[in-house]
Amino acid sequence: MRTLEEDLADAQVYHGHLCHGMVMGVRMARYGCRSLGIDEPRSYRDLVVYVEMDRCASDAVGVVAGVTLGRRRLKWVDYGKMAATFVDLATGKAVRVAPRKEVPHAGREDDPLVLWKDWADEDLFICTPVTLEIPVQDLPGRPVRSIECAVCGETVQDCRDIEVDGETLCRACAGEAYYWTAEDIAAGAGPQGVC
Ligand SMILES: [Zn+2]
Ligand SMILES: [Zn+2]
Repeated sequence: MRTLEEDLADAQVYHGHLCHGMVMGVRMARYGCRSLGIDEPRSYRDLVVYVEMDRCASDAVGVVAGVTLGRRRLKWVDYGKMAATFVDLATGKAVRVAPRKEVPHAGREDDPLVLWKDWADEDLFICTPVTLEIPVQDLPGRPVRSIECAVCGETVQDCRDIEVDGETLCRACAGEAYYWTAEDIAAGAGPQGVC
């Protein structure tokens, strides 16, 4: 089993700096994996982890748990919350780990390696057993479906296509694009000013 120091060092290299979120993420991942009885998460193939925000802690969780987006074992749900759910596909067991309300928030002057050093994992985090039903098209392994968008011709995998008026489209062509091309803007579409 890797030490906390080894995990912190690797997370720092990946994330690019040492920060409070990174330390929390490292500890969340170690605690979550331990709670599932997974001592060597990096070599354990049946671990899937959902992170609930795209900030510092999520990088650390990915490194410590040994999960990546590309292997489909790191999932991002956009809740804006520091929490993660660790799923063992082999046993079906899952735990969601989140900081307890009473845990002190870090200030700029606090040393991330010192602030929570004397806090046990059980005092830092709530670890809740949860049940997930992961859709088959979200699981690691070969794509369950691969189709060509009737408008742009690009390939859409894993059932992310949408049926519109009898045609199979990608989400962008179905009107859900997150970007505009120069043609779109020339046709009058474009940013409306958000956030
Ligand atoms: Zn950071
Ligand atoms: Zn398309």
